Amino acid sequence: MAGLYVHIPFCKSKCSYCDFFSVASLVSKDKLVGAMVKEIELQKNYLERESLKTIYFGGGTPSVLSIKDIDSILTTINKYHVLENHVEITLEANPDDLKMDYLQNLRKLGINRLSIGVQSFIDRDLELMKRRHNANDALLVIKNAQKCNFDNISVDLIYGLPGLTINDWIYNLDSLLDLNVQHISAYNLTIEQNTIFNKWLKQGKINLPSDAESIKQFEILIEKTNDKKFVHYEISNFALDGFFSEHNSNYWNNEKYLGIGPSAHSYNLSSRQWNISSLPEYISVIIQGNVPCEQEILTINDKYNDYILTSLRTLWGISLRKVENDFGKLYFDFLLKSAETFVKSNHLIKNNEKICLTIKGIFIADLIIREMLKV
Ligand code: SF4
Repeated sequence: MAGLYVHIPFCKSKCSYCDFFSVASLVSKDKLVGAMVKEIELQKNYLERESLKTIYFGGGTPSVLSIKDIDSILTTINKYHVLENHVEITLEANPDDLKMDYLQNLRKLGINRLSIGVQSFIDRDLELMKRRHNANDALLVIKNAQKCNFDNISVDLIYGLPGLTINDWIYNLDSLLDLNVQHISAYNLTIEQNTIFNKWLKQGKINLPSDAESIKQFEILIEKTNDKKFVHYEISNFALDGFFSEHNSNYWNNEKYLGIGPSAHSYNLSSRQWNISSLPEYISVIIQGNVPCEQEILTINDKYNDYILTSLRTLWGISLRKVENDFGKLYFDFLLKSAETFVKSNHLIKNNEKICLTIKGIFIADLIIREMLKV
């Protein structure tokens, strides 16, 4: 079983913290949708007829697409792929796009999971982040989605924001937990190079909270979601039982996936490939009947590193048996050796079956993972 990712690289405007590849003009939208439909046909054999367990519209902002656009993409996917009975179809959406009739039509099309980019329930912070909605819009949209029978809703929040106090963060979490959504993705703000936040930080216009404050906010997140029976199944992801993101779990469980659209990545167990990031070039090459991508054949080292990178971030951790069986003694010994210091310092926990991050380890996960990769 495999996943299919559709990348929509448009945003109506740029948020202060974001450096994702996206274009703040919708002029080429129709051409892009036409090219993506064509790419689905060109790439129809990539997954070697494996049935689709998940379809994920990500971005950018997929909710800038019209119902007709989404229908045409889904119809083409249906034409060239076999879909599992309970296929998970997610659409990432911004609150300002989710009007009632749009929500109803999405549901009719078969979209059965929404990932809503709320980020905060505090207007001051939404303005700072240059989001296009306010706190009331976010509350209303989530309630409207529930009225339209969306029973699998994920909401994104950001902590570690400039000026976000502990009380603000508690307010954000309480506001969200009161809404009875099934999934939460909460990210600690990181300042990326080409962002407005980075410019403001250099100009001294914003200050970031201390590491201790961000850690405290993360601890509160873990406590509050745990109280409401959410499972902390990946560093930034929390879900009620039965509502883990199947699409992301596919990535973590080393399943094949096909990415459609500019800058989308694909993986078929032996190689990965990525489409060109330029929108005009993507459209023009696809129109000529070619897929504008680069490819890399994966070595055993790449596969081992991919496995460490993804599995250590999850609840399930690194399976010792899998490393021994799939990669052999050399890699198994390397794994034990590279984990040793972190086990002693209580950043990792190891038993006979697996190696996992401890809560203390989660805070320095990137550093631990770097040290455990085989170069
Ligand atoms: S955060 Fe989302 S909506 Fe904002 S610029 Fe980035 S991709 Fe676009």
